[in-house]
This record gives sequence, structure tokens and C-alpha cells, in this order.
Amino acid sequence: MNLVDTTTEHVVEGIGVAPGIAIGPAYLYARAAFEIEDRRIASENLEGELVRFEQAVSRSERDLRKIAAVAREKLGESSADIFVAQALMLRDAAFYEAVVEHIRSDRMSADYAAHVVMSHHRQLLEAGESEYLRERANDMLDLQDRVVRHLRRGKILSTIDAESIVVAESLTAADIVLFSQRAILGTALDYGGATSHVSLMARALGLPAIVGMHGVTEQVASGDMLVLDGLTGRVVINPTEDTLAFYRDRQKRYRQLQKEQKKIVSLPAQTFDGHNVRLMANLEFMEELELVEEYGAEGVGLFRTEVLFLMRKRVSLSEEEQFKAYRRIVESVAPHPTTFRMLDFGGDKMLPLGHREHNPFLGWRGVRVLLDKPEMLHPQLRAIVRASHFGPLRILLPMVTELNEVYAFKERLGTVYEEFAREGLEYDPDIPVGIMVEVPSVAIKATRFAREVDFFSIGTNDLTQYTLAVDRGNDLVADKYQELDPAILQLIRQTVEAAHACGIGVSVCGELAARAVATPILLGLGIDELSASPIYLPEVKRVLRSIRMEEARALADQALQARDAHEVTSLLEVWLREHDCDVASMLEA
Ligand code: PEP
Ligand code: MG
Repeated sequence: MNLVDTTTEHVVEGIGVAPGIAIGPAYLYARAAFEIEDRRIASENLEGELVRFEQAVSRSERDLRKIAAVAREKLGESSADIFVAQALMLRDAAFYEAVVEHIRSDRMSADYAAHVVMSHHRQLLEAGESEYLRERANDMLDLQDRVVRHLRRGKILSTIDAESIVVAESLTAADIVLFSQRAILGTALDYGGATSHVSLMARALGLPAIVGMHGVTEQVASGDMLVLDGLTGRVVINPTEDTLAFYRDRQKRYRQLQKEQKKIVSLPAQTFDGHNVRLMANLEFMEELELVEEYGAEGVGLFRTEVLFLMRKRVSLSEEEQFKAYRRIVESVAPHPTTFRMLDFGGDKMLPLGHREHNPFLGWRGVRVLLDKPEMLHPQLRAIVRASHFGPLRILLPMVTELNEVYAFKERLGTVYEEFAREGLEYDPDIPVGIMVEVPSVAIKATRFAREVDFFSIGTNDLTQYTLAVDRGNDLVADKYQELDPAILQLIRQTVEAAHACGIGVSVCGELAARAVATPILLGLGIDELSASPIYLPEVKRVLRSIRMEEARALADQALQARDAHEVTSLLEVWLREHDCDVASMLEA
């Protein structure tokens, strides 16, 4: 039941995943749902059914090749790979042969057989606790839809005639690429997460997007006027003239700001008084590689390697498969370094081993799993060491809590070096090894760790949850998840002091590094590198370029004395406003 009067202005909120402001009519997009029944075929129709299936598969391949070509042109090679991979899945024995087998042996219709096989794969993915795997299930649905549509000779309607904001339950990566050929202004979706391919594509295409709107499709009709603000995650349906005027102005300011940010990309990441801070990229997908250069990142400060594994739906990727991926990454990022974080399974990233724990965040996670599972650690280490011959790289260990873990890891790395020397393979024998500082005890004992490793990377996402005892994914306590709590700042300061006393550098790679509001404090605490999703780097750089080290240090000192995170935030907001650096007030002024 819809209790909202949809004819007057009202607002729906979700998660803004691609920034920007779109204003225009809605286009409500719904995939035609096909009823799939358990239909069996007569023996004399068997060959015909197999031909029908083959035709639908080759038509689907043709579609995907076209979409890949568009993605290649607009977004580059690695985005096109998503669709090339989907096309390959169609010919994968696990799909193609399995469908043929059901048609031949069980006399299933091609539609039903494709449905049965795909549903089975989808259910396996959906059973996973990871949002990422559920997204992959969505990709499967797209493939199934495509094949069935061709079997029924249906049309795929990812097209619009006039400039519109596409509102849908969900979109696939293919949908958004096809819409981008037309006049799409932005998109608002009921489902989806920040890590979904559609979010990634929207960001890369520069299309404002909001996901997780829970039921926006029920509140919007095609043709309704909409304002979509990807910065705040808000959609205004049927806005009044005043609201429209407000957002038109905001849109103008945002575009102006974007132009300024483009200029910033090529400027040095340096404070007003010439102190350099390295700005690096956090990456999870191969498709994001192009963004490193586009946003002026000087290397990759965090590559979450577990995501490659989750994408392939397997616990183990062979050494060869991993090597190919790592080599491509280091070659693309060179001459800057790439920081490969060793597999960080456990916690909220489902460990694909069918293993369950009552309290996974305090359980078998990160380096603990790696050291217990040589069959996981060894191929990954070999793949990274092989890739080290093709460009500069660093190794980062997740979830370290004990010095013994560092020693054990280094021993394993030493063994791999020996293997390479014996095998006569080329490699860098001095790969820097660092640890994530994401557990308070490590920050407290930082000096001891600093003597044993080559760099620190502070993971503020986990450091915050472990220091404040607040689950980072629990909505009920979200207001208590305060990365700028003075206790966290104190731990960062201790970590930096210990590192610098031992002559090693410190990076921050948690989400705090992406928040320009925190840049003055991180700088003042002595951080050498900041690593964040590339799209946030220009804003961080703008703040960086406006501040002097002395001011940053004074702000950090003040923040450490503050009562709580709110006081720290107010302190920073005042500074940003006084120095014309506050994006929110620039847009709203
Ligand atoms: C962190 O904990 O801050 C971090 C960067 O790691 P992840 O978010 O992958 O746990
Ligand atoms: Mg972490």
C-alpha cells in the first residue's frame, strides 16, 4: 500500500554512490518478466531445441560483444572485460554443457534448462553472506534473462528517447552501458550496494546514481519530475519551483567545482608551504585501474586482493591466474608502486570455506587464516613475487595482532625467495613488507612492530570498530561509529611517532582518508600517505594544498584535547569554512 501522495513534492533517501546532480523526468524501467514453466519436449523436437538454444547463446554473445565495444570506447579496456567475461560464461561447460545435457537427457525445454542451471549457480552465490557475491548473482540473472529473451525472441529495452533519470529496481552493468548511449541523466535504484558493478560504472561514466532506495519504483511514475542528488543520496519527486531553483543553482556550483577539481588532478599533492603527501588509490576491481591516472593518484595504497577471489566465486585462484592479474596491475600503475594486501578473509567478508563463527570480527580473520592455510598463502605469495619483476610493489598484511605473525610471514616469504632463486626466476628480492595497523594493541605496541616491517598502513575502518567496540556494519550503533574520536587520533599519533622514530612511513587507507574534512588532522598527526577511492582524491588534495603544516599540527593538537568526535568535527568544519574548502557550504551558499 502506498501512503505517500505522489503528486506533491516528497523526498526519498538512499545511498549516493556516484556524485552529481541530475534534474529531469523519470523513466521507470522494468524488465519484462518471463514466466518460466517446467516444459518438456517431444523426442522429435530434440535437435530443433538444441539449435534454438545455440542460436540464443550466439545472439547473447553478439549483444555482449557490442556492449563490450561501447564500454571499451567509453570506459576503457578493463570495463569491457566484464562483458567479455560474461560472454565467456555462456560457453563455459558449467553452463552450456549442463543446459545441453538437461535438454538431451531430461527433455527439458531450452528455456527451462537454462533457468534450472542458472538458478542453481545463483543460489550458490546468494547463499554467501557477502554483498559482493550477491551482486555477482545479479550478473547471472542478467545472463539468464538475455538467453531466455532471445529464446522467446523478446527485445531488450535498455533504451530511452528523451533525457531522463532512469528509475528501476536494479540495473545490470550492461543496462547502464546501453543507457549511457542514450540520454540518461542519472539513475535511482531500489537495490544495489556501493560495490556493485552498476555503481562502479555510474561513477566511471560520471552519472549521478543512488542505490538502496527501497521502493522508489513504487513512488515514481514515468514522466514525474525528479531531482537526483548523488552527493546526499536524495531524490526529490515532483519538486516545487523553489526546490527546482535551489537544485539548479547547486548543480551549477557542483559543475564549477568539478572543473576546478579537474585542474587540481595535475597539481602536486603538497601543502601550502610545500610539504609533500603521497595520495594513492584504494582499488578493489581491475575495472578501476584507469581511475588511478585519471584522478592523479601516485600509486595504489591498498589493493584488496580478496575481491578478485570473491569475483571468481572460488576460495583458490591458481598462482598463474593471480600472477596474470597482479602483473597487469603493477604494469598499469608503474612507475608508481602498487600495495597488494594479502587475502583478508573473515569478518564481514565471508570466508568461502563454509565456516561459521559467533563473532567473526574477533575470529579467524586476515593473517590468522593465511598462516593456517599454506595452500592459500603460498600461491598468492608466489604470484606476487613473480609480479615484482614487472613493476614496483609492496606487500601488506591484514589483521596483524602479534609480532609472531610478522616473523612467520617473513619466513614464508623467505622460502618463496629461495624457491625463485633455485628455479632461476626473476624477482625483486627486497619487496617492502608492511602491516595494517587496525587493532588497538598494535598501535600501542607500534615501536616493536616498526622495527620489524617496512611501512605501516592504518586501517581506520577496523581500528575504529575495535577501539570503540562498535560493529562497523551495525545500523543500530552507527551513530557511535566515530572515526574522529580523540582515542583513535591518539592511537594514530602513537603509531606515527613510533614509525618515524624507526625511519618507516605511515599511510592511512581506511575511509577516513577519503574524508577531506579529516585531511588537516591526518596531516598534522604526521601521516606520509593517504589512500582512498580515486574519486575522493581531488577534494582531499584541495584541502591539502590550502593548509600549512604548522596550522595542521595545531589543529591536531587541539583535536587530541577535544571531548569527543563532534567537537573534533566542529573544529575542522570551522577551519574548512574559513579557508573556502568546505564543499557542503560551497554548494549551499
Ligand atoms: C580498514 O580496516 O580500515 C581497511 C582499510 O580494511 P578493510 O576495510 O578492507 O577491512
Ligand atoms: Mg580492515
